[in-house]
Amino acid sequence: MYSRNIKQILPNHKIRYFILISMIILSSLEAREIKFFDIHFAVITKNSNITIEQLKNEVNILNKYFVNENRKKIVQFRFKSASLCNDIKDSKCSFVKLGDTTLNYNSDDWASVFNACADAKVRDKKAINFYIYDSYSKNRGFKDITGHGKRNSNRPYILIDKDRINHTIQSPEEHEMGHAFGLGHTCEPNAKRNSNTNIMASSARCNGSGGLRNIGFNKQQVNTILKYSKKIMQRFR
Ligand SMILES: [Zn+2]
Repeated sequence: MYSRNIKQILPNHKIRYFILISMIILSSLEAREIKFFDIHFAVITKNSNITIEQLKNEVNILNKYFVNENRKKIVQFRFKSASLCNDIKDSKCSFVKLGDTTLNYNSDDWASVFNACADAKVRDKKAINFYIYDSYSKNRGFKDITGHGKRNSNRPYILIDKDRINHTIQSPEEHEMGHAFGLGHTCEPNAKRNSNTNIMASSARCNGSGGLRNIGFNKQQVNTILKYSKKIMQRFR
């Protein structure tokens, strides 16, 4: 029925062929369209001399390693802006104080403090916020280097310890950004410290080590990232 109508409207088969090919090319371009996410950085620890150039390099790291199992990009990141420690030391946002806190990390409490922040230098509502902080734990004190990432109802942010930047052990940038796009941990029970593991592998509540976290996101994880990337993008508009 459809083809008969097309034949009636466009009797020239070359034109029909041209339109069909154009539609195939357009739909494949749409399928490959990769979303860009802006990143705003804020250095909320006083114990770091990190530079803007180093922060920009964090974006390069994400663009290189936030990939699927075939090393193909899923989304792209771009540097938008950055606040160094001095720029925000007098901010009214309590989130800044969490950068050097000795209080235990609590995911929901920290998110409440983040969501209450109205200072655009600390929290950019139209970007993924990337914080450099100094992690603290009772056992390791400020030698602790734990990172965090939270989707936060599609207002995502990540926290990377100052000693973890520049893609140090266990791929912190892409792992925490995985959390920001809605991913949980994978458990790889037999993994050793030097095992090849998924980006989201973790020893938390798991017998294995997190390993190297050098294997890209699997199909299911990619689908989750794409699902939330749409919602996050809508939230940024
Ligand atoms: Zn994690």
